[in-house]
Amino acid sequence: MTETNDKKVALVTGATRGIGKAIAISLAKAGYIVVGTATSEAGAKSISEFLLPYGGYGLVLNVMQKESIESTINEIVKRSGDILVLINNAGITKDGLFLRMSEADWDAVMDTNMKAVFLLSKAVIRNMTKARYGRIVNISSVVGFTGNPGQVNYSSSKAAMVAFSKSLARELGSRNITVNCVAPGFIHTDMTDALPEQVKQDFIKTIPLNRFGSAEDIAASVKFLISDDASYITGTTIHVNGGSYM
Ligand code: NAP
Repeated sequence: MTETNDKKVALVTGATRGIGKAIAISLAKAGYIVVGTATSEAGAKSISEFLLPYGGYGLVLNVMQKESIESTINEIVKRSGDILVLINNAGITKDGLFLRMSEADWDAVMDTNMKAVFLLSKAVIRNMTKARYGRIVNISSVVGFTGNPGQVNYSSSKAAMVAFSKSLARELGSRNITVNCVAPGFIHTDMTDALPEQVKQDFIKTIPLNRFGSAEDIAASVKFLISDDASYITGTTIHVNGGSYM
């Protein structure tokens, strides 16, 4: 694979564990200067430990707070230069049947999973436009396409991300900025480990490849979408779900 952009600064939100950590490590190994974020100092320190050998580091960021986004972006730009690759990975679930879903749980999920994508994209777009180069990848979910009982808030946030990416891709294409999504199916992480065993067993029966995915399966698609090999791909979603949604 030919890369002309192997020293670009890449911001990966939610890189302490799971999919975000796998993405951060994969991009760091590919030569990007990766900044991964955590919600706590301890999390940021743990990210620094695994990124330091590659020249990257961890920082504290709460994507629900605009001020936290602004100060983190400023710190990265000052320390490492413009962010030309943004991976919006941080996400939460607050599951519950709709009749019992509180407004607070709706807001928390929409703010963390969707509004943060708006705020973070806004914070990096000016410099990407100036550089006439940018790559944004948003981590959506299969349930944004299928719907899922108990996840009205989460699936809505993940579907919104897809429409957001298409519209932004149309606006920014002429500046050589691509905006895409990766929609994971069921991936082994803390988020899914929390589910009851029976739910997991039922789910695996719906996956043609007959296994849950790994965080590295998602990282591989993200790495492809920001590579020069994907420079003519924008406004699309790569589904990485073992065939559970076709
Ligand atoms: P995870 O293991 O629960 O990790 C979530 C990450 O997001 C953590 O690094 C966490 O940081 C960070 N985070 C949470 N709230 C945050 C906030 N307010 N501000 C900044 N960061 C915050 O999740 P995962 O399973 O790896 O999922 C990663 C992404 O993939 C999410 O967007 C998720 O919706 C999506 N996804 C996952 C699956 C799956 O099967 N696992 C399937 C489809 C889509 P701390 O560690 O500091 O809390």
